[in-house]
Amino acid sequence: MDRDQTNGTGPPDPRRRLPRTDAVLADPRLVAAAERLGRRVVKSAVVQAQDRARRNDIAAADVADTAVRTPPATAAALRPVINATGVLLHTNRGRAALSEAARQAILAASGHTDVEFDLVTGERAARGRSAVAALLGQVPAAQAAHVVNNGAAALVLAATALAQDREIIVSRGELVEIGDGFRLPDLLVSTGARLREVGTTNRTSVADYTTAIAERTGFILKIHPSNFRITGFTGGVGVAELAALGPLVVADLGSGLLRREPLLPDEPDADTWLRAGAALVTASGDKLLGGPQCGLLLGRADVVRPLARHPLARALRVDKLTLAALEATVNNPETPTRSGLHGESCALRARAERLAAGLAADGIPARAVDSRAVVGAGGAPGVTLDSAALALPEVFAARLRQGPTPVVGRVVEGRCLLDLRAVAPHEDGSIAAAVRAAAVQDAVDADRACT
Ligand SMILES: *Cc1c(COP(=O)(O)O)cnc(C)c1O
Repeated sequence: MDRDQTNGTGPPDPRRRLPRTDAVLADPRLVAAAERLGRRVVKSAVVQAQDRARRNDIAAADVADTAVRTPPATAAALRPVINATGVLLHTNRGRAALSEAARQAILAASGHTDVEFDLVTGERAARGRSAVAALLGQVPAAQAAHVVNNGAAALVLAATALAQDREIIVSRGELVEIGDGFRLPDLLVSTGARLREVGTTNRTSVADYTTAIAERTGFILKIHPSNFRITGFTGGVGVAELAALGPLVVADLGSGLLRREPLLPDEPDADTWLRAGAALVTASGDKLLGGPQCGLLLGRADVVRPLARHPLARALRVDKLTLAALEATVNNPETPTRSGLHGESCALRARAERLAAGLAADGIPARAVDSRAVVGAGGAPGVTLDSAALALPEVFAARLRQGPTPVVGRVVEGRCLLDLRAVAPHEDGSIAAAVRAAAVQDAVDADRACT
C-alpha cells in the first residue's frame, strides 16, 4: 500500500511526498528489470526504497534511483558470498565453489539436452552416461558408477538394496553425526536395515566383526569418520582386512577424493579403497572433489548395476545440471577447492599485504596477519593449512556480511579476519571495495553521532 507523507500538521512538503509504487514501477529501467527478474522482485525493491525514504534515509526524489540499484542480480534471492572464513568447504555456504568449467557446463545444459537421448540412433540412452564414463576414467579400480542426489542418498540406496531386513555390521567408532542433527545410524535404520554395532568407540578388532557375521548379514559398512578424529588408544580394521571376511564391504568415504591427494595423506580415496577390496564406495560430490552436490556410488559392476535399477534410484536421481557440472569437474579437476588446498601460503601472504597496504593508504585500519585455515565439511579433520588474512576491527564483520557483495570472515579475539585461502585471487578487488564501503559506513555513523 502506498502512503502519503501527510502527518496532519500542515500541507506535506512536495519534495518529501513519496512517489506512488505504480509510478516508480513505470520507470523504464525498472520495467526492464521486471522483465528479467519478475515484477515481484522489482516491486519489493521499490517498497524497500519507499521505506528508506520514509525513514529519511534517502530523499523521496531518489526512490526510483535507489530501487534501480537494489534488485539482486538474478531472480533468486540466493546471494553469492565471498568466503573469507578460512574454511574451504562449509555446508552453510554451499560447500564447493564450482570451477569455471563446471559453470559453463551447467549453462550449456540448462536448455533441452541429450541427457537421456542418443543423437546418432535417435533412441533413448542411459542417463548420465558421460559423467559415469568420466568417473570411471579417474577411478580405474571401479567397474561401474552411479550418481545420486548426495552422499546420504548413496548410503540409503546401498542400505535399501543390499541390507533391507538384514544386518549392516558397523563399528561403534564410526557411527557419526554428519551435521544439523542428522546421524548416519538413523539414516541407515530408516531403510529397514538393522545395525549390528561392533567394538567400542575407540577400538574395534577383526574378531568383533567375525563374531557378528551371520546368514542375516547384508554387508559390512566401513565409514570414514571424516569430521572428527579420535586419538590415543585407538584401533580399527582396514578395508583390506574387512574384505577378507566374506560379506560385501561397503565403504563410505564422505570426502569424495577419487585418487590419493598427497597433501592429505590420511584422507582415504575411492581408488585405493576399491583396490583394497571394497565392493562399493560411496562419497559426496561437493566436498574434496569440488563439484556439485551429488552422491557417488563406485565399485563392482554386479553391485552397482542393480542399485542403479532399484526403484528407489528413480527417487534419488540427479538432474541434467548436476550431471553436467560433475562431468566437467571430473574432466577438469582444477577446481577452486583444489586451488584453495594447494595455494602457497607465501602467495596468500603477499595478497594480504597488498590488500592491507591499499586500504591503509586510505586510512582504514587494515593489517596482514598469519592465519590457519581448515578443509571443513567432512574432510581432513585435524589438518590445518597455513594461511594469511586481512585483519580489521571487529565492527567490520557484520557490515561486510550485509554489504552488496557479502564477505564472510571470522571474528577472532576482537578482530575481523578475512582469510584468503578460500578466496580466489580475482575476488581480492571485491574484498577491497567491500571493506572501503564498510569503512565509509563508519564515517556516516560518526557523522550521525555528531548531529
Ligand atoms: C558428508 C558425509 C556424508 C553425507 O554426505 P552428503 O553429501 O552431505 O549427503 C556421509 N558420510 C560421510 C562419512 C560424510 O563425510
